[in-house]
Amino acid sequence: MTNHQLTLLQIKSDLMDLWTSLNAVRTYEEWFEVLKKTLTNHFDIEYADFFVYDKEKFMPIKGYRSALKGQNAVRFDSEQERNEDFNAAYLERFKEKGFAYADDFVIFEGGDTEPLGLLLIQSTDKWSVFSNSPSLNELKKVVSRLILTVRKMVSLVKSEKNYKELFSVTELFNSTMDSQLILNEIVNTFVKAFPAFQTELLLSHEKRGLTRSYKLFDYTSERPSAVDAYVSGEMTVEEDLDLSCKLINAPIKGRQGIYGLLQIKTPFDFAFSTAQKNYIRMLANTAGNALENASLYDQSHRVIEDLQLVNETSRKLNGNMDSAEMIVYLRRQLLDAFKPNEIGFVFCEDMDNYRISPLSTDFFSTDACSDYLTFVRTSMEDGEEALFEASFNSELGCSNPYESVISIPFTNQEKVIGFVILLHTESYFFSFDNFKLMRSLIGHSSLALANSLLRDQLQDLVNKDHLTKLYTRNYLDNAVEESIINDQQGVFVLIDIDNFKKVNDTYGHASGDLVLKQIASYIQSEIIGIGIATRWGGEELALYLPSINIKAGAAIAKQLVLTIPTVTNPKVTVSVGIHSWTSESRMTFEQLFHFADEALYAAKNNGKNQVRFKETSSPHL
Ligand code: GH3
Ligand code: MG
Ligand code: MG
Repeated sequence: MTNHQLTLLQIKSDLMDLWTSLNAVRTYEEWFEVLKKTLTNHFDIEYADFFVYDKEKFMPIKGYRSALKGQNAVRFDSEQERNEDFNAAYLERFKEKGFAYADDFVIFEGGDTEPLGLLLIQSTDKWSVFSNSPSLNELKKVVSRLILTVRKMVSLVKSEKNYKELFSVTELFNSTMDSQLILNEIVNTFVKAFPAFQTELLLSHEKRGLTRSYKLFDYTSERPSAVDAYVSGEMTVEEDLDLSCKLINAPIKGRQGIYGLLQIKTPFDFAFSTAQKNYIRMLANTAGNALENASLYDQSHRVIEDLQLVNETSRKLNGNMDSAEMIVYLRRQLLDAFKPNEIGFVFCEDMDNYRISPLSTDFFSTDACSDYLTFVRTSMEDGEEALFEASFNSELGCSNPYESVISIPFTNQEKVIGFVILLHTESYFFSFDNFKLMRSLIGHSSLALANSLLRDQLQDLVNKDHLTKLYTRNYLDNAVEESIINDQQGVFVLIDIDNFKKVNDTYGHASGDLVLKQIASYIQSEIIGIGIATRWGGEELALYLPSINIKAGAAIAKQLVLTIPTVTNPKVTVSVGIHSWTSESRMTFEQLFHFADEALYAAKNNGKNQVRFKETSSPHL
């Protein structure tokens, strides 16, 4: 046995130790460390680097994971004839890349034409002698076999790592019903498995709001390969010339549907191995199933909650509530359930008249709401049963503050009696599920609300005068009697139109009626919230102002005398008699009326168009 053969045997034995050592080789670096030690031991070699062959170039394993790796790669043409000249020139290439020590190299080859790797060294005397012996070829063969094995190991270790990751993520998916957690974990796992590539999660609408790291899937603007994957449920690959990259789309697929896509961007020349593609497919499917389970779980919970809401609401509304109480209750339920920015209740008065309930939010008392109301009214008049708009302004080509609109009519025997409208600034804010729930909720509340509105109307018929819409004398009687018992003070005001007979005679009875209406509506607007206005009889009106003193009452009466001529056409004046009571001078309503009537009589006798008190009978105008 020659010395060289002995060296070779020792080297083989050193390298064999690798496989028997407890820690199996996981990376090229680990492997090269052993090889280098062997080279130092047997040939005194101090400087050496190993290069792995990859796509027509040798890549250094030193700094294998860093960006430098690519920069330091040296191209290699395997067809090239390798003679002395080539060797010298090729060494220069390595020197240029920063491997200045190099003065020899060995290329290792496998069975096929492509080389496996390259060993760059600073030669020594021992090496020089060895490399000129036939044993060099033997060494090449041994090392080549090893490289092939190492290569397999490295890829096995890599996929094992990925599958471990998949296993742990599957475990997590099976242990949670939290869609957000699942979606975040899908993205994390992908980023971990393919850190060099950009991964994006594209979700269909229904999943919005669940995670921050997603994009909404949009049929109209996605790449064709993405739409294809979403529709077919199969993984697709596209070479994107515009972005100069490759797109891989993996559908997130459950048993009942496709919930989105994982989109991975790789460089043009990158190709996933079959194992990697399988891994991506498995991860996306696992995610799809987990997401589906979580959605079904959420859904069943939501259905129960929705049923409870509908049930509770209709039970409550069918109790003994008046319409205002009902609207307050509905408003609270709708605000809680759907979180709109604005909510409006609108009721049909007669054919063309709509009344906006003061229980609507403030936006509905501004002119800005008119686009929305007109839109809802015309749609409903056109037979639309309910409205669900996700981007109102682009739909109508206008620029209003709110994008999302839901409007559901209140109906009674198939007749629309009003509608409720919800608004939100964000487009696509309300989900279709929201819309369905709301329809069911309003559907179940409509009858109760219609009944109570009807009750209110009937009560109004009894309590209110038909012509002026003011309360009747009977209603006032009760209110004043109660006030005299419960309050500390109050003012009674009697108003009689001056020379009204003449108005009728001159302009006709219809004009007389109009004047009565004009006065009534003015008075109503003046004392809203502070007193009750009634039609006392004929062209006489009465006001009762509880809890205010004679001074404040006189000021109001004076204002009426001053203003009524300006709001009537034909213009009329009025005479007013007022009287008050306090806790020191409580009296019956009959007495209160009697004194006010006497004051009115005095006002008439004193030239009309003025206010009078009973006590002093002095004019106050
Ligand atoms: P003054 O009160 O200033 O003494 O004179 P007057 O012309 O108002 O006199 P009086 O109170 O006697 O007449 C009331 C008139 O009001 C008689 C009636 O024709 C008219 N009147 C009463 N109710 C109505 C009504 O509902 N519509 C119309 N158009 N007129 C009415
Ligand atoms: Mg009169
Ligand atoms: Mg009169």
